Amino acid sequence: MKHPISIPLRIQLLVLSPLLLALPSRAASTGQAFYGDPPDELHPWAVHDRNRLQPPRVEPGTPSTQRSPGRPPSDATVLFDGTERSLANWISEKPEGGPIKWALKDGALEVVPKTGYIRTRAEFGDAQVHVEWASPTVIKGESQGRGNSGIFLHGLVEVQVLDNNDNPTYADGFAASVYGVQPAMANALRPTGEFQSIDIVFRRPIYVGDRLVDPGYVTVFCNGVLVQDHTPLEGPTGHIKRTHSRPFPEKGPLRLQDHGDLVRFRNIWIRELPPRPQAGATDFAYTAIETTAKRAEIAASIRSDGARLAAGSNARMLRLAESLVYAPDAATRAEVESLAKAYAHSIASLSGGALEAKKDEVRTVLKALQFLAKAGALAPDFAPKVTLEKVSLAAGWDEVKK
Ligand code: MG
Repeated sequence: MKHPISIPLRIQLLVLSPLLLALPSRAASTGQAFYGDPPDELHPWAVHDRNRLQPPRVEPGTPSTQRSPGRPPSDATVLFDGTERSLANWISEKPEGGPIKWALKDGALEVVPKTGYIRTRAEFGDAQVHVEWASPTVIKGESQGRGNSGIFLHGLVEVQVLDNNDNPTYADGFAASVYGVQPAMANALRPTGEFQSIDIVFRRPIYVGDRLVDPGYVTVFCNGVLVQDHTPLEGPTGHIKRTHSRPFPEKGPLRLQDHGDLVRFRNIWIRELPPRPQAGATDFAYTAIETTAKRAEIAASIRSDGARLAAGSNARMLRLAESLVYAPDAATRAEVESLAKAYAHSIASLSGGALEAKKDEVRTVLKALQFLAKAGALAPDFAPKVTLEKVSLAAGWDEVKK
């Protein structure tokens, strides 16, 4: 039989509910506990897991126009922004390590033929790279001899720069090709002399000892058009000879080619990317071993969070119980079971308005115990769960499933 709720009690519930559902201080994000499917052997997180970190905030940049370069995203490392000062980010390879001899003209960096390749002073791991280039306005030469330069990722893999919009050449040497390996999927170039906007995602090859576990990949957008779709790497770029995979250093510079043509560059920036599972830390796919380790780490973090909550409190019981979804722990389970027993006992002794006032709280605890039983963290016939199920049923609190 349902018990009528007086207005003061309703107000009490309104005040109480947020406290019951409030997240402990170290929870990484908002959301409900005991909600989506629990972690499994390949997923350390539950579905819709409230303990999972929020994505870090990045202020997006603005697009470029032919007249002016756009603004990089807020977390980008700016390598060249048209200023004299940003030239200090680059060193020449002729002579090795010296200052660059390319020309700063109207906010662009122009190749000075025969002064050599340039590369960034800093080195980077896997990265998102943005480069804008323009071929010489005066057309000279043909095929590979017309407006040739190159963007060397990790200092080793060339994404071709070539005045190619109306200039056929061998396909694997086309603009935005992975030179000598994979042609661009489209010719999305603007006319000769205009700035081309190139966005690249680079992943280096990963070896464990001599064993290749990930070939590395290059994805390229040319003026917003996808032209390399997760193209596997074959090794450092060469000429004429076929290249073969080999280990790359963990970090490498961004390198630009002097091929003797007056190619201009502007708005060059880079964002390092998180490592992949094969390279250690990860937030992508986990192996079973990595999943087990990560679940233990999450559980430990939640337990330390729960340990700071008031002894004997519901908040502490629920937070500690949450950790059992990720990894078992005998002492934690014993404390949760003991608190749950005491709680169920106290509820079983209530009736009438006193019980009705506890409706939301009881349902929160019951939901947690049912979730834990379903996830295998508590026995299906765990006595406090059975007790609270009986109370909920008798009080008419069970939701009618439609
Ligand atoms: Mg080239």
